[in-house]
Amino acid sequence: MTLKTKKSFTFYLTLVLITSVFCISAIGQTDLNKQNWIHGSEDCEKNTDEPIQVVQYDESTWILRQNMCTNYEAPFMFLFLGQKKALLMDTGATREEEYFPLYKTVNIIVDTWQKQQNKKIELIVAHTHKHGDHFSADTQFKEKANTTIVGLEKTDVIDFFKLTSWPTDIVDFELGNRILKIVPIPGHQEASIAIYDTSSKLLLTGDTFYPGRLYVEDWSSFKTSVNRLVEFSKKHEIKYILGNHIEMTSTDGVDFPMGSTNHPEEHKLPLNVEDLESLQSSLNNLGDKPTKKAHKNFIIYPIN
Ligand SMILES: [Zn+2]
Ligand SMILES: [Zn+2]
Repeated sequence: MTLKTKKSFTFYLTLVLITSVFCISAIGQTDLNKQNWIHGSEDCEKNTDEPIQVVQYDESTWILRQNMCTNYEAPFMFLFLGQKKALLMDTGATREEEYFPLYKTVNIIVDTWQKQQNKKIELIVAHTHKHGDHFSADTQFKEKANTTIVGLEKTDVIDFFKLTSWPTDIVDFELGNRILKIVPIPGHQEASIAIYDTSSKLLLTGDTFYPGRLYVEDWSSFKTSVNRLVEFSKKHEIKYILGNHIEMTSTDGVDFPMGSTNHPEEHKLPLNVEDLESLQSSLNNLGDKPTKKAHKNFIIYPIN
């Protein structure tokens, strides 16, 4: 990205944030099956989209997407606001604040929330798993006031969320008048977790389940984790299942080329419980041998 586009990005970000943050009271729930996302450009030098797309899902839930022209992974990040704490899930694929001003963006949202609620809250920065496209901007949050960054190792996750028996234990995490549930789902990566918000009924599944290439590092753990998610989905109402990327096109079973920084007509972000069940039955049919298999909304993609 050139310096010129960088400056215009910063200007655009300010405009976008002012517009979205001050429209908070008018919002119900965003229809994520209709939501379009910034999705890169044929020529990234000419890309004028904001560095981070900020979408308010409901009055206390925000979804952020990194500009594909700063990193082809274009990961999503999620911010849940409570009465005592806010939880940011993931910090994206780029470290430098000048290209990817994540702390600034999150801080404006949290600050506005604090003023509305008339109280100070603690910001917790945690991760769906330990891959570089989900923790790169952690550095922007270091040594900031009222901010705690959860470590990246499985043991850090276990200690912080007080999980007693990994990966079978499912625990509550209280944000203050808002309870999240932490569900361990190793397989894509050994420290992978899913997050369920009992308020918004959103289920975050990280890179384990999203409209794209589901890279499987540990086949057996992955299958067990998908079974755990399906069991969980039978006991909890789920509005949307949201993963961390979009790699599928809007054509069934067809993904964008790996590393592409241009996703015209990409798949919508949400998946649903039926999709999750079809992943489960496909994994069962494939048995013990890690096998690549394309489905309508995702591709099972073993990497070992
Ligand atoms: Zn990822
Ligand atoms: Zn990953």
